[in-house]
Amino acid sequence: TNPVRLGVFGNPVAHSVSPTIHSLFAELRDERILYDRMLATPAYFPKAVAQFFRNGGSGANVTLPFKEQAAQLANILTERAQVAGAVNTLMKVGSGFVVGDNTDGEGLVKDLNSKGFSVSGRSLVLLGAGGSARGVLPALLSLNPAKVYLVNRTLEKAQVLKRLLVDLSAHGAENIQVVSNADSINEPIDAVVNATSSSLHNIDIPLPGSFADNAWGYDLMYSETSTHFLKQLEKAGVKKRADGLGMLIEQAASSYQLWMGGERPDTTFVMSKLRPRTY
Ligand code: NDP
Repeated sequence: TNPVRLGVFGNPVAHSVSPTIHSLFAELRDERILYDRMLATPAYFPKAVAQFFRNGGSGANVTLPFKEQAAQLANILTERAQVAGAVNTLMKVGSGFVVGDNTDGEGLVKDLNSKGFSVSGRSLVLLGAGGSARGVLPALLSLNPAKVYLVNRTLEKAQVLKRLLVDLSAHGAENIQVVSNADSINEPIDAVVNATSSSLHNIDIPLPGSFADNAWGYDLMYSETSTHFLKQLEKAGVKKRADGLGMLIEQAASSYQLWMGGERPDTTFVMSKLRPRTY
């Protein structure tokens, strides 16, 4: 039988670890897949997606900066993708329909749980209001934080995101406080999640003015060494820190299960193989 054709759309995409992760899942489950990196531009993205599925593609991941565009072009959205307005997983159903889903929030929550980074009852800051922030915010709200600050340089994007979640009656949406700069927050923060691309550009991003003693910080970005944001947190005295490799593996496991069926792939082997870092 032919291998199942999968892949990831992004820009940049050359350094994506997704092909390695999915190949390890396939190996573990004794299945045959072909998982490609697919570089696109915003103008070319819709054509590239159509071509991929026409030419036998079964499923694809979508990463920066196409998640919101992918939500526009999927024929059907799952509820969580609708709430997020962003898609990280496309799958072909039957002969033509392309379904868009979002496994980012589930991936982050599974990784936070496995690291013992708790959200319930704590004050949480989410930095960013782009595609990945939209994906993870509903999942974070479902964990019942005491308070959520949604921070974005372009304040309007954060306001729009809050309004959308309130209109959709998303759990906890009324508790979101929208701000444009984290250093204007004047209470000790328990948890901070960076869903901006600041680390991609190696630049400082404003942090909350103070952190609680046992605060934790998480950067959705991952890299071989500590990310720029995690270095900022270290300087600010935040002791529990992790980059987004664990989330990447967990969201990939959820996507893999959607495409291939069966059980959710076991992530522990892949985690140990790729050395997720907890600083
Ligand atoms: P988007 O392009 O959709 O959004 C980018 C966000 O970053 C916006 O909120 C933008 O603010 C903000 N931003 C960009 N530059 C700056 C800056 N200089 N200062 C302050 N804010 C800035 O990107 P995504 O949401 O798709 O991805 C964000 C990051 O998350 C990426 O680094 C990506 O690699 C990582 N990621 C990791 C995943 C994982 O599985 N580990 C999954 C998904 C993403 P503004 O609106 O003002 O422009």
